[in-house]
Amino acid sequence: MKYCRFQLNGSAHYGLVEFVAGSNEEEITRLLLQPPQHSDGDVEGLPSRRMDRIPLAQASLLPPVEPTKIVCVGRNYREHAAELGHEIPQEPLLFFKPPSSLLPPGGIILRPKVSERTDYEGELGVVIARRCHQLTESDDVRPYILGYTCVNDFTARDLQNKDGQWTRAKGFDTFCPVGPVVADGLDPWAGVPVETRVNGEVRQSGNTRDFIFSLDAVIRYISQIMTLEPGDLIATGTPKGVGPVVAGDAVEVSIEGIGQLRNPIANQP
Ligand code: MG
Repeated sequence: MKYCRFQLNGSAHYGLVEFVAGSNEEEITRLLLQPPQHSDGDVEGLPSRRMDRIPLAQASLLPPVEPTKIVCVGRNYREHAAELGHEIPQEPLLFFKPPSSLLPPGGIILRPKVSERTDYEGELGVVIARRCHQLTESDDVRPYILGYTCVNDFTARDLQNKDGQWTRAKGFDTFCPVGPVVADGLDPWAGVPVETRVNGEVRQSGNTRDFIFSLDAVIRYISQIMTLEPGDLIATGTPKGVGPVVAGDAVEVSIEGIGQLRNPIANQP
């Protein structure tokens, strides 16, 4: 199943995204009357209503998640830890981005005046399906995953280095582009390519099979600390190849089975 969130007649809706026979582009085919909360792929069981189909590419998309929190994993790929000169962490390194940093597909990332270096970080995002608290080694994490999306963990790298903790560097408004859809038809355990392009040029080309901490380890670890709620978002870390972008650039995070998250960059006015 794939779904998005979008604006229609001035209000926000969740919509089912499908390939319709006879068309070669994805379309929003049904309004979902509540945020999807299970991951068994049973589209028929979702409360929904008919709508005039809209090509996904023409929809006014919103971030496809409404998380109570955005939990991010730092340094979850060996080669990325190395490129920033860091040791491999012994346990998952966590930080938050505030929900106020969310940005829809196509939204403009604003570089704050107080930073001179802002970097893209393309990542796989995990969307939580149901409340999850203190999972143990014997708990299967898959039933707690609703689906996956693209995340750009945009970062003021100079402020991250200067501050010693990351709230400011990671937390500016517009610093968390997410989307375009949430999809459940991919298997990060088997390996999913995560690619980032700047102005069309490939800068990051990673694969989730290179995670230092698997999704099992990450979700269990977070759940030992805090209760995860339906719709919460986990950003699973970025592969090597991070780098700066400036006003006028555009960043695209692409993940097979989800699609492409594209956002232009501008300076904060
Ligand atoms: Mg990151």
